[in-house]
Amino acid sequence: QATDRRERPGQGELFILSGPAGVGKGTVVAALQAKYPSLWVSVSATTRAPRPGEVDGKHYLFTDDAEFDDLIAHDGLLEWATVHRKARYGTPRAPVQAAMAEGHNVLLEIDPQGARQVRRTMPQAHSIFLMPPSWEELVRRLTARGTEDQEAVQRRLQTARSELAHFDDFDHVVVNVDIDTTVEELAEILGLRGG
Ligand code: 5GP
Repeated sequence: QATDRRERPGQGELFILSGPAGVGKGTVVAALQAKYPSLWVSVSATTRAPRPGEVDGKHYLFTDDAEFDDLIAHDGLLEWATVHRKARYGTPRAPVQAAMAEGHNVLLEIDPQGARQVRRTMPQAHSIFLMPPSWEELVRRLTARGTEDQEAVQRRLQTARSELAHFDDFDHVVVNVDIDTTVEELAEILGLRGG
C-alpha cells in the first residue's frame, strides 16, 4: 500500500474539514481562503434558503427539493446528508474530481455524517476534526445564536455530543481556541505554507 494518498501522479489530494455545529467551521474556512487564495474549496449544494448576503454559486448552490433529488438520482453527489433535520446538503462530485485532476488540493467543509461517507468511499482523503476548546464553550456558541427555540437548541446539543464522541475516526484533530492559530494549523496540514 502506497503512503502517498494521491490516486494518480499529478492529481491533487482531498481534505475533509468536519466537526460539530457551532465549532466555527465556516468562519475558519473563510479565514483560510482569505489568507490562502490558492486553496480550492468545494461549493456545496443545499436545499436551505440563502441567508442575507449569501451568493448562489459562491457560498452554496441553492436548489429546491426536486433539483436535489435529481443530483442524487444522477449520482452527482460525492456525499450528502440532512443536517439538523432541516435541510439537505451535498458535495457536487464533478467539480471536485475536475479540480483534483487538474492537480489542486481540494477542501470539503461538511458535517460529520458526510465526512463518514467520504472516508468510506475515498479512503485516500485526509480528514480533520475541528474540536471546540471545551463543552461549555460549544454550549455557549450554540445557545448564543438566539434565533432558535429551546427544542432546536437541545437537539443541536445532543447531536454535537454524539458527533464529538467520534473525533477519533479522523486523521487530525485541531482544537479551535483562536482563529489565527487554527488557520495556521490547518495550513500546515493542507500543505499551504511556503508555496
Ligand atoms: P449552514 O446552513 O450553517 O451553512 O451549514 C450547516 C451545516 O451543514 C454545517 O455543519 C456544514 O458543515 C454542513 N454542510 C455544508 N455543506 C455540506 C455538504 O456539502 N455536505 C454535508 N454533509 N454537510 C454540509
